[in-house]
Amino acid sequence: MFETIASTSIYRNLNLNKNLTHSYLFYSSDQELNNILALFFAKTLLCDTNSGTDQCNSCKQFDARTHPDLTILKQDSIKVDDISKIINKLSTLPISADKKVFIILNAETINEIAQNKLLKSLEEPNSKNIFILTTTKTDKLLKTILSRLNKIYIPHLSPNDKKILASELKKQDINIEKLIDSDFSLTESINIIMDSNYQKTIDEIFKLFKDINTTADIPSVVNSLSINDKNNFYICFQDIILSCIKDDYKKYDRNSIEIINSKFPKKALLKSLPLIEDAYKKQMSNVNFYYILDNLLFNILKEKFLCK
Ligand SMILES: [Zn+2]
Repeated sequence: MFETIASTSIYRNLNLNKNLTHSYLFYSSDQELNNILALFFAKTLLCDTNSGTDQCNSCKQFDARTHPDLTILKQDSIKVDDISKIINKLSTLPISADKKVFIILNAETINEIAQNKLLKSLEEPNSKNIFILTTTKTDKLLKTILSRLNKIYIPHLSPNDKKILASELKKQDINIEKLIDSDFSLTESINIIMDSNYQKTIDEIFKLFKDINTTADIPSVVNSLSINDKNNFYICFQDIILSCIKDDYKKYDRNSIEIINSKFPKKALLKSLPLIEDAYKKQMSNVNFYYILDNLLFNILKEKFLCK
């Protein structure tokens, strides 16, 4: 599993080793992804060869969560006492690695008093102590804390990356729940996207772009769609748009990408990305699919005309 993560472009592109500091914040809207990447990074920091993939003693201890220099904090609510326990460990020397790693997953759960306590430790950097925090809600962290952290934005996992991860997971029969010891739902999203519905969803999105020219087309186009996989519809949608913007024909049918590009200026496509993100959020909160899609198409067409 971790070997696979290390091989994904998403991890390599983070360029973490270029700017080693003593505290990090991994953030994006995908909690599971933030957490796996943060854990993998921690594993490489403690690993004998800094690869995280060599099965060294340190890596084995990491996987078993018995590494003496590793502390993982993950709770629904993190209070001063929890932070104090970490602070007590800061002054001791590492036991088997050359540094100690403290991971706080979903750091938005640290209450304000505890954040202030943590801030003091972040203000006194020590190369033997590395902090790694993750969050989906940077606005829940104090500005003073944020300013102390090396912020690492995690881009979305593309459907292709998910496919790679999913096939690897199947091979290794890995229970992710156990791996991270948390309420992990990446497996679920992978299963959904691995489904044969995935290709159908992609075909439907291309069809939609071929059929739509003006806002008057929206009702008939939307009615003609038969989307089985509504939750992943917007993720695919966004991924296709990204491929159009980047002229990347690897994943999708070249003709279809070119059709979209001939109809929509790149600027309009770029502006539609946050609109799709917004639609995805609405879908997650169970707003009616056809209503969201109607709105989204209307707004995308509006961008198209504004860009002319
Ligand atoms: Zn290792």
